[in-house]
Amino acid sequence: MSVRCCVAGGGPAGVMLGLLLARAGVEVLVLEKHADFFRDFRGDTIHPSTLEVMHELGFLEDLLQLPHQRVPRLIAQFGGLALTFADFTHLPTHCGFIAFMPQWDFLNFLAARGARYPTFKLRMRAEVTGLIEEAGRIVGLHATTPGGPLEVRAGLVVAADGRHSVLRDKAGLRIDELGAPMDVLWFRLSRRPGDPEDPRGRFDIGRIFIMLNQGRHWQCGFVIPKGSLERLQARGLQAFRESVAQLAPFAADRVGEIANWDTVKLLTVRVDRLRQWYRPGLLCIGDAAHAMSPVGGVGINLAIQDAIAAANLLAVPLRGGRLTTEDLEQVQRRREWPTRVTQRLQIFMQNRVIRRVLGSAEQIQPPFAIRLVARFPLLSRIPARLIGIGVRPEHVQTPAG
Ligand SMILES: Cc1cc2nc3c(=O)[nH]c(=O)nc-3n(C[C@H](O)[C@H](O)[C@H](O)COP(=O)(O)OP(=O)(O)OC[C@H]3O[C@@H](n4cnc5c(N)ncnc54)[C@H](O)[C@@H]3O)c2cc1C
Repeated sequence: MSVRCCVAGGGPAGVMLGLLLARAGVEVLVLEKHADFFRDFRGDTIHPSTLEVMHELGFLEDLLQLPHQRVPRLIAQFGGLALTFADFTHLPTHCGFIAFMPQWDFLNFLAARGARYPTFKLRMRAEVTGLIEEAGRIVGLHATTPGGPLEVRAGLVVAADGRHSVLRDKAGLRIDELGAPMDVLWFRLSRRPGDPEDPRGRFDIGRIFIMLNQGRHWQCGFVIPKGSLERLQARGLQAFRESVAQLAPFAADRVGEIANWDTVKLLTVRVDRLRQWYRPGLLCIGDAAHAMSPVGGVGINLAIQDAIAAANLLAVPLRGGRLTTEDLEQVQRRREWPTRVTQRLQIFMQNRVIRRVLGSAEQIQPPFAIRLVARFPLLSRIPARLIGIGVRPEHVQTPAG
């Protein structure tokens, strides 16, 4: 099989890039190893900047027909004190809120829009296993499918295969590990009439607990010091349930739904970044180029921004069959700075807030910056901008058709 561009990975970065390139008339094949998009929780946030891009593409109205929750403000609770630290309602975007929508609905939506273009192909259950290299240049990839092995030749291979990217390893690209002091345990609790609507983030003595409203259930994140799962498990499931009940008293009546440790999934948090995002014929984007900390919930947004920048810079040379390695370097140049700034802010928050809370034996005061924002609500527009729009937001410049 031969295409102009082959994208490994049908996550937010891969599907968005496939859609934008196909829309610009570039023949593109996206390979996704799973049979569908309906799988483990990997974040459900669609940020104002992504919603703005949906508007630019003319998709916004239809997207917002899908079930979602609108979150105009983020609230952090320190002990008994609840503080608004980000207010999205003043952002200069069409949507002054984060839309919480199951990621599989969002990906299905993008894939369905892509399928409107004859140049877009998405192949599920196609697991990419390796690269084809000739004379120092990547010229394609190998994949396994239920129908047997698949070899794809492509003018450009894009690794959008996430934080455990096979392709970046196979390409021998060097990674800088930036470190994280925590891991996150994810599990679900049912939602009941009378429960709050808003997402919650609670910083308590030695504990951080996040609850995201997913309609019929709460997606819960219990933040633990890195590598401490075994110790937590040794204290027993009942002790864990009691901790959850203390952190979310309104849900104390249903912590029994945490039936066993199998229902609690461990996210090993890693923050890393490739030194070089490309090789001749290959480009890495999204988590494959830079795994993000969950702080601020911006990984999906960054992945989408990478896809837009890549499409803006590469669609024309790809379509004309004259893509150069300098074009790929341009993508890294464009996206490395926003990635660095965002990761630096995340690491600052990890060290200044998360590490301190997880290591505390008594209730810590909210950090000065958050107290300041709570005191002067106008200031909540700054974190709103950083989280909701991010650094150097991208806009669609690729032509339609
Ligand atoms: C538990 C959890 C919670 C998170 N919460 C949030 C949040 O609230 N907000 C937020 O913005 N971000 C969140 N994130 C981070 C977010 O999921 C990622 O930053 C974002 O999905 C990155 O997008 P991506 O397309 O680069 O990679 P991914 O979303 O990881 O997509 C990679 C895709 O490639 C596929 N793939 C992998 N290997 C292969 C292969 N060999 N062949 C073919 N396909 C392959 C995978 O199945 C996947 O579909 C969370 C992550 C996790 C794990």
